Amino acid sequence: MKPVFEEGFAGVKLPPLTSHDHESLSQNIDIDVKYNLNRRVVMCRHCVMTNQRPRISFDLSGICSACKYWERKESSINWGAREERLRQILDNYRSRDGSFDVIVPSSGGKDSSYVAYMLKNKYNMHPLTVTWAPSVYTEIGYRNFQQHIHNGLDNVCFTASGLVHRRLCRSSLIDMGDPFQPFIYGQVNSPLHAAKAFGIALIMDGENGEAEYGGDDTTENMEGFSESESESYWQSGTPVEDWLNRGYAPEELSFYQPPKEAISVRRLFFSYFHNWKPQSHYYYACQFAGFHPNPIRSEGTYSKYSSLDDAIDPFHYFFGLLKFGIGRATSDAAHEVREGLIQREEALALVNKYDREPPSSRSADLFSEYAGLTRNQLCLAVKKWTNKRIWGNQAPELNFSP
Ligand SMILES: [Zn+2]
Repeated sequence: MKPVFEEGFAGVKLPPLTSHDHESLSQNIDIDVKYNLNRRVVMCRHCVMTNQRPRISFDLSGICSACKYWERKESSINWGAREERLRQILDNYRSRDGSFDVIVPSSGGKDSSYVAYMLKNKYNMHPLTVTWAPSVYTEIGYRNFQQHIHNGLDNVCFTASGLVHRRLCRSSLIDMGDPFQPFIYGQVNSPLHAAKAFGIALIMDGENGEAEYGGDDTTENMEGFSESESESYWQSGTPVEDWLNRGYAPEELSFYQPPKEAISVRRLFFSYFHNWKPQSHYYYACQFAGFHPNPIRSEGTYSKYSSLDDAIDPFHYFFGLLKFGIGRATSDAAHEVREGLIQREEALALVNKYDREPPSSRSADLFSEYAGLTRNQLCLAVKKWTNKRIWGNQAPELNFSP
């Protein structure tokens, strides 16, 4: 995807790697132990997800927990009762003077725009959308972000210092095998800062990813996560405080942590109250939020309408592919099968065609510059986080421009 402000960081150099970084790059990691992975790969008999996805479970007939949950969504969850419960909750929070009464963490993507417009149009709430800016905006992401505001939503956008965020992405890639973790810290915690600043007591997140996409199925009946649950599911077991030991000053991490003073805020999943169907959110967002899909497919998959905002995204998905053998096409195809949009045979063909595609050389050049890693250092990170049991010596490799 085309970045918007590619030149924005080019020429702004990051400090060189620390001795910890160098040491960490040459470490051997047992990825199976770290993520508690089953050593025998099994694919779900209904979708195309495998048992290598962390925390997913399979039943005796070989069906994954996400498919079981989707079956339950269609057969036994009483959505009418849940919507009634949502109305009762919203009645307790709705402002009478038009002031903001609910925060919707939102990028302007199809799902968060859907949630914000539903709250505004159907439930007569006064949402404030809160955006945590991507590392490097893509053109289509920035367009959709602007469009959801122009179509009638108020917005506050948090953007962390590029010097800090770039270093964090680099540290996180080296130490955790995912450059995306700092984005998640901010995505989880920036709405809390907005809640405090604007005195808003309700946050409506989109979906419970553990339930919808495969993860810990004990979360399926949760209306929202408590603070400790959000830490274990959203922070990969590495709380933000841990970065203090890695050379980051407390003030550099303030947006990535909850506000220092305790605030009273309730945090819910919209997906608990409404049957979560990404395809219908897409149609809804096109109609009400002026959402546009990308004209071309995203790297590593066939889809054009999800996760479009961040030009470094291909590296998040690529490192997931290296660690778990699960790429972006697998994730997209698995939930499209569950949603009934494609058949399993078609999903398998899409996975075979796109899943192992590494980031383009343009994306690799951009990421290397963004994270302040030489090509060699980036290749060392790839080597460190490649699961040898899954790939042997067949792992996909990075390409750079000549
Ligand atoms: Zn499945």
